[in-house]
Amino acid sequence: MKRICISEFMDPDAVAALTPGFELRYEPDWVDRRAELLAALPSADALIVRNRTQVDVALLDSAPRLRVVGRLGVGLDNIDVESCKARGIRVIPATGANARSVAEYVVTTVAMLLRGAYQGSGEVMQGKWPRARLSEGREALGKTLGLIGFGDIGRQTAALAQAFGMRVVAHDPMLRDDDPVWQRSGVAPRGLDALLAEADAVSLHVPLVPATRHLLDARRLAAMRPGAVLVNTARGGVVDEGALAAALREGHLAGAALDVFEREPLPAGSPLEGVPNLVLTPHIGGVTREANARVSMLIAQQVRQALEEGTA
Ligand code: NAD
Repeated sequence: MKRICISEFMDPDAVAALTPGFELRYEPDWVDRRAELLAALPSADALIVRNRTQVDVALLDSAPRLRVVGRLGVGLDNIDVESCKARGIRVIPATGANARSVAEYVVTTVAMLLRGAYQGSGEVMQGKWPRARLSEGREALGKTLGLIGFGDIGRQTAALAQAFGMRVVAHDPMLRDDDPVWQRSGVAPRGLDALLAEADAVSLHVPLVPATRHLLDARRLAAMRPGAVLVNTARGGVVDEGALAAALREGHLAGAALDVFEREPLPAGSPLEGVPNLVLTPHIGGVTREANARVSMLIAQQVRQALEEGTA
């Protein structure tokens, strides 16, 4: 019987769906007990991970039978895809299954940052009344959202933002200006500099690759419109955190939300400590009850299929 190891949290219904026909080892905290995980891998035909298990050469060396890696999510930066390929191991991401959750996070967060009204709860509770200061918020209606990366999540975000009455422009060097997606989506293509100069809100939807590392550095953050807001749900290294901290402290940007960081969890002494108008979430943009269920079930089905067909 083929053996599947699962090293991070997977929705229970999807785990149950994988049980018949396979020998399953589900240890959601294996990710934090790497030696034990590696010790269990010599007999594994498939491994299912989220974004924290490092599927690197050392792990692959301890898993000589491995044929499939299922990824409960989209980004593959914790997986050495080239080494998997060289060993004939198929990597299966849950493409599309959590895009809606990220898109909802982005659009609601953009609206919240533009409004700028939700960071006074403590004062109101203390009997203060910061009404004048919090009466300067902006509506999303008619504002321009600039998307950097116009793949699956970028497109779903665009549709929600348009429903909110926002104009949407996007930068994606892999898409030609005559690609039908622009007309179909009602989104206008832009060069990166033009987008930064035009957008009231910027949201990142690119993979972390050498070309996107610190894509938003001090120069590009300075090129954003004064008072603009920034949301990063893509990958931490895409924004220079030190430069973003400075742009928020100086008041050049009105607000930012980060769901992803150069190091997760944030290390002590992070430049983001104490920065105003900054909302931080622990990499949960794509993680909701609904997305968990969709992502887990999709990976269960595809890993099962790959092992049964022997196509892995
Ligand atoms: P996708 O592959 O569908 O789209 C990515 C797009 O980025 C592609 O269209 C590609 O052409 C474009 N791109 C590549 N290099 C670029 C560059 N230099 N400039 C501009 N565009 C570039 O991916 P997706 O599913 O939309 O995911 C986007 C990002 O969101 C990924 O980094 C993924 O890891 C991240 N993500 C985060 C969460 C979360 O919980 N925060 C959840 C899901 C995905």
